[in-house]
Formats: sequence, C-alpha cells, structure tokens
Amino acid sequence: MTKSSSRIKLADAREIEPLCPYAKICGGCDMQHLNYNDQLIWKQKRVEDLLGGFGVVEQIIGMEDPTYYRNKVHATFQVRRRRVVSGMYEENTHKVVDINNCMIQSKKANEIIATITKQLNNSRIEIFNEDTGEGLFRHVLIRTGYNSGQIMVVLVVASNFFPSRNKFVKALMRKHPEITTVVQNINNRDTSMVLGFEERKLRGSGYIIDTLCDKKFRISSRSFYQINSVQTEKLYSKAIEFAELSGDEVLLDAYCGIGTIGLIASDHVEEVIGVELNSDAIQDAIANSRLNNVKNARFYKADASEFIKGLVREKRQVDVLILDPPREGSTADFLGSAKQLSPKKIVYVSCNPETQARDINMIKDAYDIKKIQPVDMFPFTSHVETVVLMSRK
Ligand code: SAH
Repeated sequence: MTKSSSRIKLADAREIEPLCPYAKICGGCDMQHLNYNDQLIWKQKRVEDLLGGFGVVEQIIGMEDPTYYRNKVHATFQVRRRRVVSGMYEENTHKVVDINNCMIQSKKANEIIATITKQLNNSRIEIFNEDTGEGLFRHVLIRTGYNSGQIMVVLVVASNFFPSRNKFVKALMRKHPEITTVVQNINNRDTSMVLGFEERKLRGSGYIIDTLCDKKFRISSRSFYQINSVQTEKLYSKAIEFAELSGDEVLLDAYCGIGTIGLIASDHVEEVIGVELNSDAIQDAIANSRLNNVKNARFYKADASEFIKGLVREKRQVDVLILDPPREGSTADFLGSAKQLSPKKIVYVSCNPETQARDINMIKDAYDIKKIQPVDMFPFTSHVETVVLMSRK
C-alpha cells in the first residue's frame, strides 16, 4: 500500500521527492513529500484553522535541523525469507518495513537496532509471530538522553525464559559500551501495545537520566517523556514564560508525567502540585524532585479530573494551572472544576489542537485567550504542539 491515501496536501506547495527512501511504504511519517518550510506552513495553517478563532496565532517555532530528533525509538522484528528484519509496520498493515536508517530517529538508536538485528540473525532466538503467538523476541525500545548521552535498551520478549540472554546482552554491550542500562520487558499478550507490565533490570539502573532546562530527569521505560528534546526546551520555556511567574504562586501541573514542567517552574513559584495517572511516571516525578533538591513540589498519583475536584472541595488556592493532557484532551469535569478553582492563569499545552479547541470552548466564558504558540515537535509528521495562555476574566 502506498501513502497516497493519508498523504497531507498543501495547496500551492510543490511535492518533493522524499529524502527518506522508505517514505512511500512506511507508516511513520506523512509529510516526507513536503520540504521542511512547507511542512511548517501547513502546520501554521492547521493551527490557525482550529484555534485562530480564539485569537492571533504566533509564528510556529521550527527546528534548525529537523532530522534524527526522536529520543525514543521503537523497532519491531519479523522473519522474511528466513532473515530477521527490523523496522516499523507498513502503513495499515502488520508487515514490517525493513529500515536500516530512519531519518527522524536518534542515530545512535538506529545503530543499536542494526546491531540487535544482526545478533538475532546470528542466533537461534525465535522471533515472535503475531499470528500464531509463538516465538520469543518482539520489540526493542530505545531511549536516549539527548543531553546526557545515557541510553536505555528495553528488550521486549514474550516470556520470562530468554535462552542465552546473558550472552546476547554481553555481545550488545561489547559493541555499544555507551548503553547505560538494559531492561527485559515481558509482553505475552495479544496486543498492539509494545510494552508489557513485567520488567527485569539486566544491566544498570533500569532508567536513564537526562537534562532539560538545567534540571535532571530520571525516565523509566513506561513513563511519558517528550520525544524531541531540542523542541521540548523551547516548548517548556514558552509555557513558563506565558505563566509570568513572580515567585509566590501555587502552581498546579496537571497531567505532569515525570514532573518536568512543574520542576522546571519550581524555582519561580511558592509551591508546585503535580498530578498524573501513571504510577511509574509519578514515582519518577518524586525521584526527580529529590534529584534536583526541589523542596516545594508534591506529586500525586490520581486521575486529574478527580484530583482537581478534590482541590475545589478543599477550597485550595491555585494561582496558575498548567495542563498538558494526552491527545484525547482534557475532560468536561476537569475543565468545569478548573473554572471553579479559578486560577488567574491557565497555560494549556497540547499535542492535539483539535481537542484543545474543543476544551477551550468549554472555558472561554470565564477566560480570555491571550496567546497561541505552535511549536513543531514532530517534523515530517502532521502532528503539531501548541501552548495557549488564558487569563481569568
Ligand atoms: N507534562 C508531561 C506529560 C504530558 S503527556 C510532559 O511534558 O512530559 C500526558 C500525561 O498525561 C501522560 O503522562 C499520561 O500518563 C497522563 N495522563 C493520561 N490520562 C490522565 C488522567 N486521566 N489523569 C492524569 N494524568 C493522565
């Protein structure tokens, strides 16, 4: 199947021959046929179409070099003509595209995946077969610390029993001494989710530490972490600049992940309250406060909508709310409670302007929309991130 079905069209833009040789079959990128400037024009227009009704949309912040940016990389394996191949699924299929060098992934991750594929070809380790549920080796997940250089390799296998595991890991570490931790993740379910719930550390600490906006962050395999570190620093700086913090605010960081935004803002406020549903992420957030010697942040594992309702019930004062929900956006419950909590400012960070527009519509009776800033976190794909500043009427 070719990409024409889902290919992004831009009026007036010339289609170019994609830089990536896999662009026509791989399901990873949908903007390979536009040059980078045209991609930015398309994204600017998309945000203007969806959010322009609320106010002026600032110029999108793009990347100087939009290649090799993904710090989290996933590869799947398949046996093709008795050879193991690795890559991503072909669009709308479960056939793996044999990719040697993906131009949006970290270069180091590309090299490690190539090594693992070679090792698999030289071993008797069986590749997992999705149709029959037989075999062992399913996926590899690699996280690289953009600033720290630390590297985590997660070997996702279908069973606890991994014959010649030690030999496999030893050979991998010998070839890539820069790997700082290796984790075995067990996923024996019939699922398109990459990671299972059970994990075992094989080398190192089981997480990486990276630096972002001068703070250190511990990141474990299942925690959310923004995948484009260069742009994340720009995104977070914008969010914190928009909040115009004076030092005495109580800041609520909702959907906080491993605590990144709250901890970066912690030097500029009186108190940070973070809430997040994923327990691994919240453990990372608590560890990250300690790692940075931050004393004024508290993190809670809870559903954000339930949690904010509780804050309203307890009549807690919150001066600034920063929310950064997943693609589905926030909820009517959360936004209703946010209005009751009535912070002076709301900074809404979103990876989906569609749900963000829906959500803003629910609070715009009580808040003025002051600034709208798109940031390109995902070059060569049609995804776009936005930060919106709202101020209490
Ligand atoms: N602000 C963080 C994470 C943003 S991603 C960062 O920039 O790194 C969105 C986060 O929302 C994820 O960590 C996800 O686990 C969390 N999440 C999803 N549903 C949630 C809910 N109902 N309540 C609280 N957190 C939720």
